[in-house]
Amino acid sequence: MPDSPPSPDPATTCARPPRVDPSATPPLVPPLQLSTVYEFADLDRVDAFYQGLEQGFVYARDGHPNAAQLAAKVARLEGAEAALACASGMAAESALLLATLGQGDRVAISEGLYGRTTLLVAGELARFGVEHDLFDATRPDTLRDALKPRTRLVFAETLSNPLLRLADVAGLAAITRPAGVLLAVDHTFAPLLCRPLALGADVVVHSATKAIGGHSDVTLGLLVGSRALIGRVAPIASTFGLTGNPFDCWLALRGLSTLAVRAERASANARELAGRLEAHRAVERVHYPGLPGHPDHALAARTLAGGFGAMVSFDVGSRDRVDALIRALGHIPYAPSLGDVSTTLSHPTTTSHRSQTPEQWARQGITPGLIRLSVGIEAAADLWADLDGALNRLGT
Ligand SMILES: *Cc1c(COP(=O)(O)O)cnc(C)c1O
Repeated sequence: MPDSPPSPDPATTCARPPRVDPSATPPLVPPLQLSTVYEFADLDRVDAFYQGLEQGFVYARDGHPNAAQLAAKVARLEGAEAALACASGMAAESALLLATLGQGDRVAISEGLYGRTTLLVAGELARFGVEHDLFDATRPDTLRDALKPRTRLVFAETLSNPLLRLADVAGLAAITRPAGVLLAVDHTFAPLLCRPLALGADVVVHSATKAIGGHSDVTLGLLVGSRALIGRVAPIASTFGLTGNPFDCWLALRGLSTLAVRAERASANARELAGRLEAHRAVERVHYPGLPGHPDHALAARTLAGGFGAMVSFDVGSRDRVDALIRALGHIPYAPSLGDVSTTLSHPTTTSHRSQTPEQWARQGITPGLIRLSVGIEAAADLWADLDGALNRLGT
């Protein structure tokens, strides 16, 4: 006798989602919640949700639990009311610019910003009728001239790339606040070293692709600020399709759990390497805010806590010597990102600053012999052994 057909039909069983029963014992770590959509029990629930009477999620582009968990944690770290997870650091910047600028408005950007940020403002926004002005974030007085009647937003980086100049955030805020202009600070190079919002910034941007993720396996960005500002940006970020996905948020949350110890260790390593590099005869110059000779050392000593950061740049004199060093290093790869648990190096004139002219490099003090290290959490002695060995093969 043939089997009686199962009910429901196998096709139905296959297609239907499983029952998700909450456990009496909740999971210790947040579950990765990939669902793109959430279920309404009835129409009253829909109304209650849209009237703000009930909290929850509907559609993942607008919000999902892993993004909310990540945002809450980063907001707490920055001393902010709210945060928004975006698909990348550039997505976070785009969302901010799209939400705060309109045709005819102006944005003031500091010189030497991350290359794509400059490209976004100077290249892309200009197509939509938004013009920009430049200022020097280490000299707030230069911002006074850059502010025009239609300037709506000022954008700076805590620590610049690759010369690691420290923005005077408090000095900039003293100008933007009375003028009613928003001050945004890209804090990617300096997580936990200071809190730009406490210094007077209105919004913080992070590329969580870097130190927050910490393992070079996440592409994600964050915007951090007041509930009002984030509330204004969030729907625009969703409309332009810029929000972050659950898996990257989940990975970034996992990365964050060790950020404090990674940052502390990497800062200590970087300080040690900076001192040793400065003393090496094959090195012409070292840029590190923890060194007394750095132009912003006094400001860094006053405003940064727990170290001077994981980034160190140094000059070996020429492109050929950079090439020889890269070939001689055994364990420090040329991988043009930053913030990984392991040490990597980058060469600004062939990657991050490749699109600029030699004149633009010269104006910023960037040379073809300049190397940027993103220092990781290895033992400093092993890092130095690799660097010292390779530098010694260069000669003077
Ligand atoms: C990498 C980076 C960005 C862009 O972040 P993505 O996640 O790559 O989009 C912005 N600012 C700084 C300082 C960065 O290093």
